Amino acid sequence: MQDESLREQLLEQSVELVRAIYVGPDGIARGKAFRPDSLAEILQSGIGLTQAQASVNVFDHLPPESRFQPVGEVRIRPDVNTFQVLPYLPGHARMLSDLETIDGQPWELCPRNLLKTFLNRLADEGMVIRAAFENEFTIFKNVNGEWQPLDQLNCFSSAAMDLASPYILPIITALEQQGVMVEKYYPEAGHGQHEIPVRHQAGLQAADQQVVFKETVRGTALANDFRVSFMPKADPASAGNGCHIHFSLWDSQDVSNLFYDAAGEYGLSQTALHFMAGILKHLPALMAFTAPTTNSYKRFVERCWSSCYVCWGPDNREATVRAASGFKGQEAATVNLEFKPSDPTCNPYLALSALICAGLDGIQQQADPGKPLLTDPTLLSPRERQTRGMTRYPTDLASALTALEQNEVLRAGFGESRISDYITMKRAEIQMIDTLGKDAEQQAYLFRF
Ligand code: GLU
Ligand code: MG
Repeated sequence: MQDESLREQLLEQSVELVRAIYVGPDGIARGKAFRPDSLAEILQSGIGLTQAQASVNVFDHLPPESRFQPVGEVRIRPDVNTFQVLPYLPGHARMLSDLETIDGQPWELCPRNLLKTFLNRLADEGMVIRAAFENEFTIFKNVNGEWQPLDQLNCFSSAAMDLASPYILPIITALEQQGVMVEKYYPEAGHGQHEIPVRHQAGLQAADQQVVFKETVRGTALANDFRVSFMPKADPASAGNGCHIHFSLWDSQDVSNLFYDAAGEYGLSQTALHFMAGILKHLPALMAFTAPTTNSYKRFVERCWSSCYVCWGPDNREATVRAASGFKGQEAATVNLEFKPSDPTCNPYLALSALICAGLDGIQQQADPGKPLLTDPTLLSPRERQTRGMTRYPTDLASALTALEQNEVLRAGFGESRISDYITMKRAEIQMIDTLGKDAEQQAYLFRF
């Protein structure tokens, strides 16, 4: 978008504040807002931000062992291509942003820039990734001053649709007003749990769309006097909130799906199998990015359809990677892989970067994902699982961080300092939750993402 047409929109739509939003390594969308008069200045020089934000966790806590301290500055640089007037909040607009050094270079710790570098690596191989983040979230209504899940009705039930429709329709309208294409809607299995799958997008837009999705769902809820939570296990007694990542690789013209091969088993190409093998090989290290909170690990309960064991299978919803069947007559366009051990607390730029990093390694090594699993992995005996190399996921974030610390491919791909900064930040978060006790996790994650 040209600066001039942006200025016109600000005026026409009576925008009073423009938010420059970035997502920090802790997964929280943060930013600073500015008055429209400052637009030209901010597009030229950005907005000041302390470097320490790279190490700040969900509690806004800067670990003393972080290499960042109160000295040192970067710039939040809004990307004009992401400009949106917020349909759910009159007078406000948003731009997603990169983090740059004060002389305008990409900052080494900017998550959005990291994804750009992985997209460039894919482009060097003549490939583009298409992805859709498939969020589940819990709707809360206010009952006498307390926030309670909206319903306890059934998965996919029309009764739950009736009940939730005044909550869901404003969200769908607001998403579509910002160009997010809503594909479906359905109530999910958890109490108050609902899901609005959206159309896949190419590369950076896929991760940007995930930020827009969560911002919009949360903001629309607040504007309509309800709340939503993206916490992985918002209600310990019912199904968790996943954010499965559907993805496929396309040729550099973005016209042909490289994961599809009509002659391949389940319509999968060798490229799809190698890429998937890389992902399975680098699990659980990459879960440190896709399931990045202490609460994330409470979601991985056997037979809760969240997946628990490292394996893959065609339309197997208990597998790490589900090879999603193509739709009749549109197989070439719709065959894709669905990665299940991710949830909506992930930073989408880091999560997608981690998947690409692992998947590219799989392609380079021509890795083999092993035999597909055609049953529920939890029904196999421990011995059978062991024979097939189907290890259990880490049961806590600390173990995933240890796996990340030991993973050479992710360390090389992300850069040593980014990985060690991330681990320092996350370990401090774990320690705070442990120290603060019983309700700390709920407080940390229920309404912050
Ligand atoms: N709620 C499940 C999860 O935690 C997913 C259910 C499904 O959509 O298959 O991932
Ligand atoms: Mg679901």
